[in-house]
Amino acid sequence: MGGFPEDPLSGSADDDIVSEGSNEFAGVPDSFQRLWTPHRMVYIQDGQQPHADDCPFCRAPGMSDEKALIVARGTHAYVLLNLFPYNSGHLLVVPYRHVAQYDEATPEEIVEIATLTQTAMRVLSAVSNCDGFNIGMNQGRIAGAGIADHLHQHIVPRWALDSNFFPIIAGTKAIPRLLGDVRREVAEGWPAAVE
Ligand SMILES: [Zn+2]
Repeated sequence: MGGFPEDPLSGSADDDIVSEGSNEFAGVPDSFQRLWTPHRMVYIQDGQQPHADDCPFCRAPGMSDEKALIVARGTHAYVLLNLFPYNSGHLLVVPYRHVAQYDEATPEEIVEIATLTQTAMRVLSAVSNCDGFNIGMNQGRIAGAGIADHLHQHIVPRWALDSNFFPIIAGTKAIPRLLGDVRREVAEGWPAAVE
């Protein structure tokens, strides 16, 4: 894949997501629709729709880990599953502070984002046997950031055979694991003392 596809303004995928009440979760929308297997339980839960200018990355830490799909909380930043994963185990490392750009982050935030990223790689390797990672940040909407106003680093585990024909023929990406299951597995694999 090239970069991290995120396009919250694209039509059909976004419409499907809104109709399923998923906006109460934090995540970075992209242009793929997803074929959830075996079912889409996580998305079927109803809930209050957030206000349009509400920032999901600011709200998530105030929710339970299970509800917000958080796998680890640090002092300056936290880690959660992307609601719109490119692959199973697609994590986001997010500072608690609402800053948009990497060069606005404090030294403490940068260190913890980096440390959490390293831990995330180790945990994902241990629990999922992935073969590699895509790690990076989209800075600004023009660069593809779905939630451009709040800094977030993507960590996407990759497997040798994780690309298939679904995205090409149907604009759909098959995600074989439910988000709730993946969250629990990653959270349980996370070292008790981060740092
Ligand atoms: Zn925010």
